[in-house]
Formats: sequence, C-alpha cells, structure tokens
Amino acid sequence: MSLDTPVKGCLHTPVLRERGQREVFCGLTGIIWLHRKMQDAFFLVVGSRTCAHLLQSAAGVMIFAEPRFGTAILEEKDLAGLADAHEELEREVARLLSRRPDIRQLFLVGSCPSEVIKLDLGRTAERLNQRHAPHVRVYNYSGSGIETTFTQGEDACLAAMVPGLAETDAENLLVVGALPDVVEDQCLSLLHQMGVDQVQLLPARRAADAPKVGSRTRFILTQPFLADTAAALERRGAERIAAPFPFGEEGTTAWLNAVAHARGVHPERFEKVTAAPRARARRAVAAHAETLRGKSLFFFPDSQLEIPLARFLARECGMRPLEVGTPYLHRALMEPELALLPETALSEGQDVDLQLDRHAALAPDLTVCGLGLANPLEAAGHPTKWAIELVFTPVHFYEQAGDLAGLFSRPLRRRAILSGEVRP
Ligand code: SF4
Repeated sequence: MSLDTPVKGCLHTPVLRERGQREVFCGLTGIIWLHRKMQDAFFLVVGSRTCAHLLQSAAGVMIFAEPRFGTAILEEKDLAGLADAHEELEREVARLLSRRPDIRQLFLVGSCPSEVIKLDLGRTAERLNQRHAPHVRVYNYSGSGIETTFTQGEDACLAAMVPGLAETDAENLLVVGALPDVVEDQCLSLLHQMGVDQVQLLPARRAADAPKVGSRTRFILTQPFLADTAAALERRGAERIAAPFPFGEEGTTAWLNAVAHARGVHPERFEKVTAAPRARARRAVAAHAETLRGKSLFFFPDSQLEIPLARFLARECGMRPLEVGTPYLHRALMEPELALLPETALSEGQDVDLQLDRHAALAPDLTVCGLGLANPLEAAGHPTKWAIELVFTPVHFYEQAGDLAGLFSRPLRRRAILSGEVRP
C-alpha cells in the first residue's frame, strides 16, 4: 500500500478513556535495554528486593562482563526512617565509583519504595555531581511502577539527560530513542547516503559522544513513548520533526521523508537511496502478510507502540484492528500516525475487567498484550503476542520490517500448526 492511499484515518475518532485497574510492568524494565546501549553508564536502582529481583530475572545474570546495573536495597530500618538513607547511598556510590573507573554516567533510579519514604534522589544526584564531576555525571529519574508503564523508564531517563547537554549554535539533527546498535547503524547509513550530516544520537553510546542542543537543533523521535524527552528538548529550543514512526516500509519511508524535507534533500536523491531497501522491506513483509491478511487484531495497552504497530499491521499486512488500546495517547506525537490508521476503536488507559469483556465479545484472531494477560488469554484459546518483545527485538527501519511482521505472524502460524490447519 502506498503512502497516499486514501484512508479516513483516526484523527477525529472519539477515544474511550479508562482509569481503572491496570496490568503493566514498571519503568525499571527500561534499564534492561538502556544499559546495553550506554556502554559507560551504570544504573543504580534505589529500591527493594522486589526491584532487584525484577531486574535480575528480566536481564539475566551477566557472568563475564562487569554489570552495568545494580540495586541499592532499602532495608527495613531505612523504610522505617531509622537510618539516613541519603548518607548510606552516597557512601555506596563512592565505593562503586572507586571500584569502577570505567563508569562515566551514573543514573540513580527511583522506585516505589524510595518514593514512599520520599528519598530525595535529585538532591543526592546534585551532591554526587559536585563530588565526582567532571569524570562522572550523575542523573536521577524515577522508574517507579505507580501509575506508569514500562516504556516510560526510557523516557524519564532521556529527559533527565537533556538539561545537562551542552549548548550549540550549530545546525544539527538529533535522532532520539535507544535503538539496537545494528539498527542505529542502518539509520545513520541511510541519512548519510541522503546527504544529511551533523547527525547526533540521544542516547549516545558513550558519554563523550553526547549530543549538543540549541535553537538550530531539529530532532526526530524513533519511539512513540518519548513525550517528556521531546518536551525537554523543546524547552532547550530544539524543534521536533513530526513524522510517523519508522516501523515497516511505509513508516520508515515517511520518517526518512520528513527528515529529507526538513534538510532539503532532493526528491531524486531520496528515491535513489530508498528504492532498493523499500523493495526489500516490501518483499519481506509480503511473506508474512499472507498469514496476517484479513485477521482481526486487538491491542491491550502496554508498550505505547500500539498505534504505530496497528497502522503497520493494518496498512502493510492487511490486518483488521478491532480495538487499539494505549496507556497514554500523546496526540501531538501521534497525529501523523492517527492520520494513517484506518478507522478503528481507540482506547486510552485501562480498566482491565471491562476491556477483557470487550475482548471476549470481539474474539479477535490475535491479541497484543502484556505478560500478565498473555497466559490466561492463551489458556482461553486466544493467540497472543507479548508487547514487551517489541522493545527487545530490533524492529525499526527497512531491514527489520519483515522481522516485525514475523513477530505477529508466528503466533498465528503456531496456532494453525497445532490445530492441524497447516503443515509445519
Ligand atoms: S519499582 Fe515498584 S513496581 Fe517496579 S519492581 Fe520496584 S516495587 Fe515493583
């Protein structure tokens, strides 16, 4: 399907807003992909044994490498206010930094317990900065699970970095969002071939490569869940390039096109650079679209990727989204996506019992949801896709478009094989 395919779109679709019980992971989850991205950073969660357990079980235990995350565990006496947790934390940080001179960025990550006892991590970060700058830069943000969803951890982390970025008067382009290195390299290569220079990344792989920002900075998001980071960059005078997100052939082309437009890339050059990877992406998606075409789809709110993915699955794979639920609908960021998304029901937030009732009534062919709902839904006979897999798997840009479609076709194929409809 081409970019100019007429669709009614969802720009004016009424949104069902629910504020009930939710089934989501907390923002600490983001550390799992952020610590891999930022190679000289350390994430110190100030939390409980539950927080430590979540991180260890989700990230696995690193045997050969020095770990780049850890948990300063608040004990009962801290929680009861009997000890000065601030002082203890500063001592722990001093010990960590003296043992690990490779650490150049330290993130103090707040949790539910640290928020409940009102630990002031902002003040601690300030004091530690005074002591350890310029060798180490200390930031703080919250990964707490209260009223958040798991992708907000990355947003909070990147937003915390923005005020400390160096100022520039030069024109530059910031690509914002933590992508796997291989995907990031593909993105940079496409931009380079288009003649777009002065490109910087947030987050950078190393502290020394941190981007600069100023009133001539344009930035573009690669992830739809970075609303606070976008607002922080705008406060620094940078201007956002609005675009659909680079999922699938169409999303990637529209994303690159928005950059090309902002940087005055000639349409012929754009065509020359993108023609071959576009064709490859279309072919790769087509192989999975055979399984997906005509199938109905239901999104429970979880990753904040729901709207761009529904657009990709509807327009490039021929699926029929019945309800697209998202934890938060950032309308300003989502407008280019909503304009492309074929008409469907939209919901924001969650009242999980009511949503499960709607889901049961619609009985979709495929359900995208969090881990907490996936098992009971599978047991009830609904094929599911875990939303969290989408942030751990390289899915952006042309070369990953086929893999992205494959993530959704696999559960349907597995179900068909198990039921004997198709041969393995
Ligand atoms: S931050 Fe809160 S929700 Fe997340 S693991 Fe710790 S206690 Fe649980």
